[in-house]
Amino acid sequence: MRQVVIVGGGASGMMAAIMAAREGAFVTILEQKESVGKKILMTGNGRCNMTNTALPLSAGYPHEKQNFLERCFLQFDAHDTIRFFEELGMMTKKRGTLVYPITDYASTVREMLLMELKKEKVKIKCAEKVVAIEKKKSSWIIKTKGWQYEADSVILASGSKAAAQTGSDGSGYELARSLGLKVKKPLPALVPLKCRETMCQAFAGIRTYVRLRLAIDGKEVQKEEGELQWTEYGISGIVVFQVSANAVRALEQKKKTEVWIDLCPFVAKEEILQFLKKTMDFDEKKTAEEVLLGIFPKKMVLGLLKERKWNKSSPAKEYSQEEWSLFFENCKNKKLTVTGTKSFENAQICCGGVELFEVSAPTLESRRHKGLYLAGELLDIDGICGGYNLQWAWTSGYLCGIHAAKGK
Ligand SMILES: Cc1cc2nc3c(=O)[nH]c(=O)nc-3n(C[C@H](O)[C@H](O)[C@H](O)COP(=O)(O)OP(=O)(O)OC[C@H]3O[C@@H](n4cnc5c(N)ncnc54)[C@H](O)[C@@H]3O)c2cc1C
Repeated sequence: MRQVVIVGGGASGMMAAIMAAREGAFVTILEQKESVGKKILMTGNGRCNMTNTALPLSAGYPHEKQNFLERCFLQFDAHDTIRFFEELGMMTKKRGTLVYPITDYASTVREMLLMELKKEKVKIKCAEKVVAIEKKKSSWIIKTKGWQYEADSVILASGSKAAAQTGSDGSGYELARSLGLKVKKPLPALVPLKCRETMCQAFAGIRTYVRLRLAIDGKEVQKEEGELQWTEYGISGIVVFQVSANAVRALEQKKKTEVWIDLCPFVAKEEILQFLKKTMDFDEKKTAEEVLLGIFPKKMVLGLLKERKWNKSSPAKEYSQEEWSLFFENCKNKKLTVTGTKSFENAQICCGGVELFEVSAPTLESRRHKGLYLAGELLDIDGICGGYNLQWAWTSGYLCGIHAAKGK
């Protein structure tokens, strides 16, 4: 019976363990926290957006990684994920193409995995931090603080540096480096962005539906639409997370990184101006503040007027059509200069990690070391929001588990 040791009991590690055990291996998970699957509980705001059925699946990841990913998804894709969990007894539901457990509780996903790990007699050792991995002639020695384990195959599934409170403290990168593997500098992604403009403080606390464009060195590279949250330091929300990976890579290369925001994406500027004219005609005494209150939230109205140095109590009619036109031009094209991101603690994932050329697709076995496999976020794969990061954890866990158990 082949001995498989898995370093890390997150989404990818648990999936790998189940698959390796199903293939007949004796499997041990070494997990440094007091329990496995902690990060799963935080996913999707506690609901776990576990995958995405949009086609092609690889479109949810950076362009240059799509070929690699397609080879992996051919073996295990979003539909396989849904089937896998349904076979464990969990019903799923969809919001558009986003898939969730029917309970809307991320804990259900974790419970299903725990049940299956038990059924497959996987040994789970918690509070066991792996500190070193050594290659012997035809086996591996995995060292924790107080013990050492021997295995025919090792699966490194120790996650990234994002949300370290769940256990992914970046130690997996060190283990990979100690084995000679190249690691691309990890950067926080799916993370709020810090911006220079004081407008953010004026708007802090407001949530608005916006259209957002990311420009790098003056060139538009990504467009998104959705709810944005204004904060003291900058901007947050899923619409921001979606552009954050591109933003963080640009910032790392010291490129000019800007976000352009349309605060009223549902209507054209001309339409707003006509509407405003009607409001003013209906009640000539209305102030600048009063005519805007039906278009933007109050805090935003006050911030916008202050920014343009307009008197909120002046009659709206005192400002010319041209001035109003400029006012709304600015609302539809608000520029924010991105100066940085929030920390790894506030990030959902990392971009960067063990370079993809270090592993063969689709086995995910190390090209340098036979019997070493890499799964999950530890590898240099980052998806957008929408279930893509967990899908990568399921797919890579599946592949590592199957191949580690077979030893090929
Ligand atoms: C707040 C939040 C919300 C998210 N929401 C979603 C979502 O809805 N959909 C989605 O697709 N993705 C989501 N993600 C991302 C997703 O959770 C991760 O991409 C995924 O869990 C990564 O799985 P993993 O197995 O690679 O790593 P992890 O789940 O981080 O697991 C790694 C495990 O390895 C252990 N470990 C690390 N080093 C060692 C060591 N030296 N020795 C022993 N054990 C070690 C850690 O303790 C941890 O348990 C979210 C992430 C966060 C933080």
